[in-house]
Amino acid sequence: MSQVNAELNSAYKTILNVIGGIEPRIAEATRQELADQRASLKLIASENYASLPVLATMGTWFSDKYAEGTVGHRFYAGCQNVDTVESVAAEHARNLFGAEYAYVQPHSGIDANLVAYWAILANRIESPALEQLGAKTVNDLTEQDWETLRKTFGEQRVMGMALDAGGHLTHGFRHNISGKMFHQRSYGTDPETGLIDYDKLRRDAKEFKPLILIAGYSAYPRRVNFATMREIADEVGAVLMVDMAHFAGLVAGKIFQGDENPIAHADVVTTTTHKSLRGPRGGMVLSTKEFAADIDRGCPMVLGGPLSHMMAAKAVALAEAQTADFQTYAQNVADNAQSLAEGFLKRGGKLVTGGTDNHLVLLDVTTFGLTGRQAESALLDAGVVTNRNSIPQDPNGAWYTSGVRLGTPALTTRGFTGEDFDRVAELIVDVLENTTPVTASTGKPGKAKYTLADGVADRTKQAANELLNNHPLYPGLEL
Ligand code: PLP
Repeated sequence: MSQVNAELNSAYKTILNVIGGIEPRIAEATRQELADQRASLKLIASENYASLPVLATMGTWFSDKYAEGTVGHRFYAGCQNVDTVESVAAEHARNLFGAEYAYVQPHSGIDANLVAYWAILANRIESPALEQLGAKTVNDLTEQDWETLRKTFGEQRVMGMALDAGGHLTHGFRHNISGKMFHQRSYGTDPETGLIDYDKLRRDAKEFKPLILIAGYSAYPRRVNFATMREIADEVGAVLMVDMAHFAGLVAGKIFQGDENPIAHADVVTTTTHKSLRGPRGGMVLSTKEFAADIDRGCPMVLGGPLSHMMAAKAVALAEAQTADFQTYAQNVADNAQSLAEGFLKRGGKLVTGGTDNHLVLLDVTTFGLTGRQAESALLDAGVVTNRNSIPQDPNGAWYTSGVRLGTPALTTRGFTGEDFDRVAELIVDVLENTTPVTASTGKPGKAKYTLADGVADRTKQAANELLNNHPLYPGLEL
């Protein structure tokens, strides 16, 4: 992570002082957040540290501008500079990923998925229906035709990865609008290997015949063969949508190529910009030309006015992601995940799928006699920030869980090496071996009950500090 120069440091200091003059608690919380992030081993697989130029780009007057619509076609006057921002961000996204089309407005990953769903419904259901009825827009439909079309929307099916196999809530689950919009069936992983069973997936898809086959995950520690997913989608006439929110940085850094490059095989690809891609919080949709016009209807179909300051920050981050440095970073993220996995395996840890070949590992903590919730809390007491996660066929359910998910993107940004990640594995195993569950965690959600042996939290924090001090976060930034 490059040294923050004196001018940038003084600019941040001044800004915080000004904020403090208006609401001191916010200035103080901002300083404290930096101190906390500096002092913790951040292993949350979906988090990262954006560069100061990316962070600074978010804090400008672009925040004040309304710009519903698309470049050159806005519902508000005076959008010429927003047009520049959106065009530049989209151009970078197309170049970086080799996509035919990029839509950079979504405010988050969930929003990007919503845009994708509505665009696919518009393209595959609405447009053919309008054509058949000789109508140009839905305004031309009779009440009866409109009623029939709305029912047809509600009959569509999606097929995505099961939650406990690592899929995401937005891939058709009942606690998300996607599960209420669509009929859903999920595909899991092989109970023996923990890997996606493509033959079974193919059989299930042939039986279920989804409109949309969704690939992508939040907690699957392996690569996906998108060429095979494309074949399956074609065999059943489905649109292939890939949600690469988690691993977009590995696609951008050219770690996932050929069959593993989603852009080369999917019709529509959604992503977040703040995880392994290391940009500002936000989402994007990439697609073939066929879906471009329908995706452009995202705002105001399902999105509010675009956050122009965030699109500007996306542009800066996407420019950074096109550098050789970013490719090295992406390679290090993947290499470090290998070191972390090996660090657990050689100390007797059990990993879902037996390892990793992306940016995350899923540690099965039942071998330590713990639930995911107990492990997550004990680790946090020792300054190690992780998140609990279900494992396939989880015996402890989705709240307590049996796993802990750990990712390498954030600490790799700080400059952690393979050796450092081996030490991180050692520290985590030490904490978990010294954590005793107090009660079986069943029943209603509540506090995780466990005891951490005396002295373990302190010795872990001390060891973690040594690692963290070797790789400072925003070095030179003194607030
Ligand atoms: N898709 C996947 C695969 C994710 O892992 C996540 C976030 O956890 C999302 C979508 C949602 O992203 P956001 O929190 O930006 O809405």
